[in-house]
Amino acid sequence: MRFILDEGRLIPEVLAKTKDQAAKPISRIDFMSSIPLHPEFHYSPELLSFLEGKQLLLEELPFPLDLIQAHYEHGYLAYEKGIMKTKHGWRCMRCGNEEHHFFASFPCARCQTVCTYCRKCIMMGRVSTCTPLVVSRFSFPQDRYLSPLSWNGTLSEGQQRAADAVEDAVVHNGELLVWAVCGAGKTEVLFPGIARALEMGKRVCIATPRTDVVRELFPRLKQAFPSVPLIALYGGSDDRGKFAPLVISTTHQLLRFSRAFDVMVIDEVDAFPYSVEPMLEYAAAKARKEASSLIYLTATPHPAWQKEIKRGKRKAVTIPARYHGFPLPVPSFEWCGNWRRQLKHRRLPRNVIAWAQSHIKTAKQAFLFVPHIDVLEQVVCILKQLDQRIEGVHAEDPQRAEKVQAFRDGRIPLLVTTTILERGVTVPNIDVAVLGAEDDIFTESALVQIAGRVGRSAQYPSGDVRFFHYGKTREMVAAKRQMERMNKEATERGLLKTP
Ligand SMILES: [Zn+2]
Ligand SMILES: [Zn+2]
Repeated sequence: MRFILDEGRLIPEVLAKTKDQAAKPISRIDFMSSIPLHPEFHYSPELLSFLEGKQLLLEELPFPLDLIQAHYEHGYLAYEKGIMKTKHGWRCMRCGNEEHHFFASFPCARCQTVCTYCRKCIMMGRVSTCTPLVVSRFSFPQDRYLSPLSWNGTLSEGQQRAADAVEDAVVHNGELLVWAVCGAGKTEVLFPGIARALEMGKRVCIATPRTDVVRELFPRLKQAFPSVPLIALYGGSDDRGKFAPLVISTTHQLLRFSRAFDVMVIDEVDAFPYSVEPMLEYAAAKARKEASSLIYLTATPHPAWQKEIKRGKRKAVTIPARYHGFPLPVPSFEWCGNWRRQLKHRRLPRNVIAWAQSHIKTAKQAFLFVPHIDVLEQVVCILKQLDQRIEGVHAEDPQRAEKVQAFRDGRIPLLVTTTILERGVTVPNIDVAVLGAEDDIFTESALVQIAGRVGRSAQYPSGDVRFFHYGKTREMVAAKRQMERMNKEATERGLLKTP
């Protein structure tokens, strides 16, 4: 679509009375985006509540263009450029992408020019140089909820301290990192802060890169806050396009929001903001209000953040002990020689075989993590000679869910896996081992997460964690140190059960 600029106002070409002016794609027009709000205007509550807190394409708005335009002309909504020209190229204003290879050009029928569009967020509908993004400039008063929390569990001492810090950040629009070991119970730590926010009429979003996390959190939050409208946003969810005081969203769905939330919680992003998900950083920043709080939850902060925390440059609170009060099982390192060469001869290192055999014999279940799919297939093939029930699972495995379930049911004694199971999957009473822990894929954070699978249940709080390697890496050592430090801190703070 093209716009005409008339005395600083944008008019869609199709609505313009005169056709003599040169209409242009929005990215080529210099315009002021602020028109003062006309309070006497009879706005459409349907349109404004649909648009509230959002940043949408025109085709995502089920309202006629002249109605949308009238709201623009009276200051109730604004058009923003979908793609901006930068010094170095382009920037997608919806997803923040600036990488050249994620932009492409095509002869566009809508603006009759060659249009550039963002390929990175194309699955949410095309944003191109002639695409306006529509945002609301009006907000309805927000509902307040009286004592919305109906969770009656108790927080551990470590959790309580973190919960207090979260609540403080919520009230004062602060920024906080919650560094909680795997199994600390970090979701409950949010409850008092979320409750406080809802009492104050604030809107809360929990953002995560993973759909699994959204699905897992939804029922827990629903139960904890039964009177509060809650929506879960992920690809394929029924709630897409909706808005509520309490929202759980994946990165992509969060891209449709703009200045919507008073409290933004970013969950499960270990290496944030240096991780592979720069899009989440952008989306979360865009979806927050200018005055809002920002809370990160992680079990393994990026080393740069760990340094900042040490120097007191980043506000953080640690939960060094698990909910059940037992220490983290610390990994042991076992050299296993050139295991790749052994694999070529269809063999596994002797100590790895011994580890597998002892688990089959004692019927103690275990995960064996390997670096890549090709390794996985070879390893499974060899291990099946010990026990036919042994299986392997990887990210693209169509039977992934069935195999994980079979493992949970105890029908698979050993499950060989790539790093997809490093988090999320919790099975009581298991051991874990890593074959080839020196591989680049096993970062400090991945190794901490892998070790974090063990001993999570109060019934079986311990277990064996073994890293089979062909040369110790800095990441392995850092992971082990991180767990030892947490155990030490937990001991010093008196958070561990004394035997
Ligand atoms: Zn984009
Ligand atoms: Zn175009």
